[in-house]
Amino acid sequence: MTDVGPVPPNSAQPVPASYLTLRGIRKSFGRECVLDGLNLDVSEGEYLVVLGPSGCGKSTLLQIIAGLVRPDSGDVKLASRSLDRVSPKDRDVSILFQDDRLYPHWNLRKNLELACDRSPVKKHQSGDPVLELAQRLNIGGLLQRRPDEISGGQLRRAALAKALLRQPAVCLLDEPFAAIDTMMREDLISLLADFPRERGGGCSQTSVVHVTHDGEEAMRLADRIVVLGGGRVLQSGTPDDIYRKPQSLDVAKAIGTPP
Ligand code: ADP
Ligand code: MG
Repeated sequence: MTDVGPVPPNSAQPVPASYLTLRGIRKSFGRECVLDGLNLDVSEGEYLVVLGPSGCGKSTLLQIIAGLVRPDSGDVKLASRSLDRVSPKDRDVSILFQDDRLYPHWNLRKNLELACDRSPVKKHQSGDPVLELAQRLNIGGLLQRRPDEISGGQLRRAALAKALLRQPAVCLLDEPFAAIDTMMREDLISLLADFPRERGGGCSQTSVVHVTHDGEEAMRLADRIVVLGGGRVLQSGTPDDIYRKPQSLDVAKAIGTPP
């Protein structure tokens, strides 16, 4: 069969609604070059895990996608639209920070409702989306409590709920399981692995970009893993591919392939 080339603009083939594309992203802090012409593609509904050691630029990458850090050069596009001039609050993107905090003087319900209100996809759901999600995350009974009245693991769940409630096109998770104990981590990994991500009445799906230094976490959650090193993508592939056929020692180290 011959290659038909690019799909014409008025073709019946649907264009993915939330296709995230990064091209030639460079970012230095002083003399330190953190991202060195990075290219990345995320499909709609894909669960992408970006894996790399501490200091390799994972948080910087997420903050560039969220619009909180400006790249020195390069382009970020969402559904074919450049985000260059789009402010962080107008990007259809949510971010769970490494040390995410809730407002201490508000109870969980109010904290979560605020996230809901900020959603650019105004809720199609009827009922009580905050309670539904909180129940799924096993914090349904805690909505009247303030952040200082719940445990660290429960706080982490609440922060995760905040990021998911907006039903964004892209949900960015920065080391979501850091600083929680092993049991709770296991629990959250299973929960995230099965988590439904339909948006706006189920017409499209939230894409996730989850960054971590933990190879096992990546193996268990990712549709695809991208290994970062030297400010670029060292390798991209399915968890199985990366684990069985790491193309360099750095990739093998990141994924934890036995020697
Ligand atoms: P990771 O999340 O993979 O641990 P980061 O993106 O946080 O890596 O940081 C990558 C490098 O950039 C680190 O060496 C860090 O010290 C540096 N860096 C990140 N943010 C800043 C900043 N605002 N100012 C100066 N250096 C920074
Ligand atoms: Mg980080």
